[in-house]
Amino acid sequence: MSLLKLLEGHKRFKIEFDEKQKLYQSLVENGQCPKILWIGCSDSRVIPEKIVDAEPGELFVIRNIANIIPPAKANDLCSSAVLEYAVVHLEVEHIVICGHTGCGGITELCMGVSGNSSICKWLRFAKDATSSSDPGDIENTIKRNILLQEEHLKTFDFIIEREKEITIHKWLYDMKSGDITIFDNVTKRWIDVDKDESR
Ligand SMILES: [Zn+2]
Repeated sequence: MSLLKLLEGHKRFKIEFDEKQKLYQSLVENGQCPKILWIGCSDSRVIPEKIVDAEPGELFVIRNIANIIPPAKANDLCSSAVLEYAVVHLEVEHIVICGHTGCGGITELCMGVSGNSSICKWLRFAKDATSSSDPGDIENTIKRNILLQEEHLKTFDFIIEREKEITIHKWLYDMKSGDITIFDNVTKRWIDVDKDESR
């Protein structure tokens, strides 16, 4: 991806921008009012707006390595500020925590990465998702990490206060198939919404 390719892409975007003048101008005049907060991985292959075909103004997004939200006591200003703005000011109604197969961050964690780098320190907020009996189980650690981050979300006072108005969704995006698997709170199973028989 060269700078030239970026600028060519921007030209195509400007064509779409002009075609959707009404939408873009409305977002300027009326402000944003997204009802969904998306917590995703920074991975360049997992683009929220593409996965759910969302328009500008529909998703409030935070992305970082391994879709992590450190618990409130960790005082991570970036994620807590995004959460606070989404929950208190935008009053989002849904929070989607979306992990993905082949996540490099979780793979590193499962391989027992250690050290004092920023990445190592960051991945500690996913450590509780690893299994002591099978630490190399990347696939299930990715799933458990998504559930773990929901627990972290529930350590924030402003989320607890709006708990009844917010639905937290746990999603897993499969990079090979493009499918979404959703954690069912009742059956405690992951359900592939793209496969009819799993519904
Ligand atoms: Zn990832």
